[in-house]
Amino acid sequence: MNISIYLKLGVAVICLFDLGCAPVYNTTTSVAKDSKSRKAKESKVHSGGKSEIKVFLGEVSDAELIGNNLKAENGNSEVGKGIVRIVNGNVSIGGKEVSALSYPIEISASNDIIAFNGKSYRGKFLLHKLSSSKIQIINKLNIEDYLRGVVPCELRVGEVEALKAQAVIARSFALSKIKGGKYDLKATVEDQVYNGIEAEIKRTDKAIKETRGIVCTYRGEVIDARYSSTCGGRTQDGDKPYLESRVCQFCKFSPHYRWKSEHLLSDFGKVRSIRIYKKDKSGRVDMIKIVSNKGTQEIRGTTFRAKFGLKSRFCDIRMKGNKIQVTGKGYGHGIGLCQYGAVGMARKGYKYKSILKYYYKRIKVEKIY
Ligand SMILES: [Zn+2]
Repeated sequence: MNISIYLKLGVAVICLFDLGCAPVYNTTTSVAKDSKSRKAKESKVHSGGKSEIKVFLGEVSDAELIGNNLKAENGNSEVGKGIVRIVNGNVSIGGKEVSALSYPIEISASNDIIAFNGKSYRGKFLLHKLSSSKIQIINKLNIEDYLRGVVPCELRVGEVEALKAQAVIARSFALSKIKGGKYDLKATVEDQVYNGIEAEIKRTDKAIKETRGIVCTYRGEVIDARYSSTCGGRTQDGDKPYLESRVCQFCKFSPHYRWKSEHLLSDFGKVRSIRIYKKDKSGRVDMIKIVSNKGTQEIRGTTFRAKFGLKSRFCDIRMKGNKIQVTGKGYGHGIGLCQYGAVGMARKGYKYKSILKYYYKRIKVEKIY
C-alpha cells in the first residue's frame, strides 16, 4: 500500500513525501447548545454548512485570473466583465483598469472555477489593493469544498476511517479560524496546506462528504485538534485538558517509529560532556546540558531538536568523540492525534470516532451542520 503521511512540527512542517502539510493548532469555536452559544455557532457556521472561508493565496504585482465569463463586483455593483489581469499592482477587467475606489473586488466565474498561478480553485476570488503596489489574492469558498483541497495534502492513505478522522480535524481547525477578517487562513504550512482542485482525490472527497459538518468538541467548544506524524509509542501532553499524553501502540509500522542519527558537536566548542537532564512526563527531552571549553550551556529540547533537525525530541543521546549519537522515537511534536497511529487503528477495524476519542480525551464528535 502506498502510504504518504505528512507530519506536523508545531509551526514548522516537514513533509515526508511529495506534498505539503500543516499543523493544526489554536482552534476554539463555540458549538454549545444553549441559545447564546448557538448564536455564536451560527455566526461561524452560517446557514447549514454553507459557511464560506477566505483563504489567502498570495500578494502579486503581475498575474492573470482565468475562468469562464469572469465578472467583477463590489458589493452589488458590477465593476467589469472579461479577462482579469494584474499588471504592476493594478487590476484591469476586460481591458479597463479598476478604479482605486472600487476595491475590494469579488471575481466570479460562471462555473465557479478560477485559475490563478497555474492552479484551479473553486468558489470566488477577492482582490484587495495594498499600499505596497501589490494585489492581495484571496479565494473565498465553501468550507467543505476547501477541505477537498486540504485533506489529501494532510494524509494520503487507503484507510477510510483514518481519512475521516483527518477530515474532521481539518474542518475543526478551519471553522475556528473564521474571525471576520480580510482572510481566515493561509494556504500554506502556517495554517493548512490548500492546493485547490488539483489536490482533490476521490477517496478524500468521500471521507469529507461522509463526515460533513462533523467536528470534535470539548465542553461545547471545537477542540484544538493538534496532530503529528508518528508519536513513537506515547503522545505528549498539550496545553488543553483533552490533549493528554497516552500510550499508542498503533504506529509501530511507521518508518519513523524508531530512528538513529549522528551529529557533529563543533558549534558548541570543544565539548567535554553532553547530557539530557530533564525529560517530560512522556519521556521527551526538555533540557540538555553541554559542558565545553566555552563553559556550561543549557539548551531546551525544542532548540536541540531544531538545531540538529531531529525527527522528534523523544530521544536519548550518547557522546562519541566530537559527535553525538541520537536514538529516537517518532516524528513530530507528538501532541494529539498520531497520524500513523490513526492509520494503524483503522487497519485494526476502529471507526473514525473511536480513533479521535482515543487521541483526544473526553471529547465529543458532533455534527454541527
Ligand atoms: Zn503513535
